[in-house]
Amino acid sequence: MKLSTSFFIMLACLSSVAQKAPKTENVILVTLDGYRWQELFGGPQKKIYKTKKYTKDLKAIKGQYYDTDPVKSRAKLMPFMWGTIGGQGQVYGNKKLHNKVTLTNGYKFSYPGYNEILTGWGDRRVNSNDYPDDPNTNIFDFLKAKGFDGKMFCAATWDAFPRIINTKRNGVPVFVEMKADSSGGFHRNGIDIDKWQTTIPPHNPYAKTDTFTYKFAKEYIHRYHPRFAFIGFDETDDFAHGGEYDAYLGTAHTLDSYLQDLWDYLQSDPQYKGKTTLIVTCDHGRGDIPKLEWRHHGRVMGAEYIWIAAMGPGIDALGEIRTREHLHQNQIAATIAALLGYDYKPDHYAGEPIRSLAPQK
Ligand SMILES: [Zn+2]
Repeated sequence: MKLSTSFFIMLACLSSVAQKAPKTENVILVTLDGYRWQELFGGPQKKIYKTKKYTKDLKAIKGQYYDTDPVKSRAKLMPFMWGTIGGQGQVYGNKKLHNKVTLTNGYKFSYPGYNEILTGWGDRRVNSNDYPDDPNTNIFDFLKAKGFDGKMFCAATWDAFPRIINTKRNGVPVFVEMKADSSGGFHRNGIDIDKWQTTIPPHNPYAKTDTFTYKFAKEYIHRYHPRFAFIGFDETDDFAHGGEYDAYLGTAHTLDSYLQDLWDYLQSDPQYKGKTTLIVTCDHGRGDIPKLEWRHHGRVMGAEYIWIAAMGPGIDALGEIRTREHLHQNQIAATIAALLGYDYKPDHYAGEPIRSLAPQK
């Protein structure tokens, strides 16, 4: 009897703590296309950068990002990921520690991955990057029905996102391929993109088109204050396919600096400050064997392994998750809904929320 009484007291305490905990009112989802868990958790991989054809400037890579300790190495490569999210949030998917995050779609390429992230279902029918409008309702449709209409948007480098999000069905503004027009300004929603032509970091010439995607996204967030925003970066995938390991790492480093810049901005804006959760993940991994497979995905062993990082109000500062567990890509949509206080129940199968990110109310 005593045990059950103290159990109820404990429950009461827990629920009062939960009520006091700051709440997520906005979610920003960011994806780094095809960025491998190996570099995220281990920094530059020796077996790849030592191969001459993949690395133009070995000295530069070693000088910028390398340390004999992989924990220091990864923090040099992605200082915001490990200094801030790794300190204040949670990072899942270090396969070496048996903390796994995998796809449930068997395809291991982009459209099926984004379908799984956004709908919560690794639908086998979604089997091509040329797939037409995604027929499955997604987190945007779900949130629209909860009053988020006009409070969501997507900016992405890849032009498949209007089909993946199915903007024809839900009317969510999706801005893709923000290319600068040198002949004199290029405007989207009144935002002048042309002025950003010279803002690519000079010390790191990578992530050019992702830079436009980012600058546009930040400006849009600043002007229109969406409550759910999705930013889709792409150039990690491009450079990996091209076998350019320097550029792949350089892009990851630049995108990490954009995450830092975005987070700093969010903490300066009253709508977002202390009320916004940032989730960073990827659509698929890549192969693991250095000779060629690291470049590719799809029918490549190991490309099913991904990672998820998140931080925000109410998310415990657990850092790198070192417990043995197996999460899935199809849990991201329900996690976003749960963070915003909703039970994600679309008209199709969907994965459960990740409870260590979004505890049950
Ligand atoms: Zn991809």
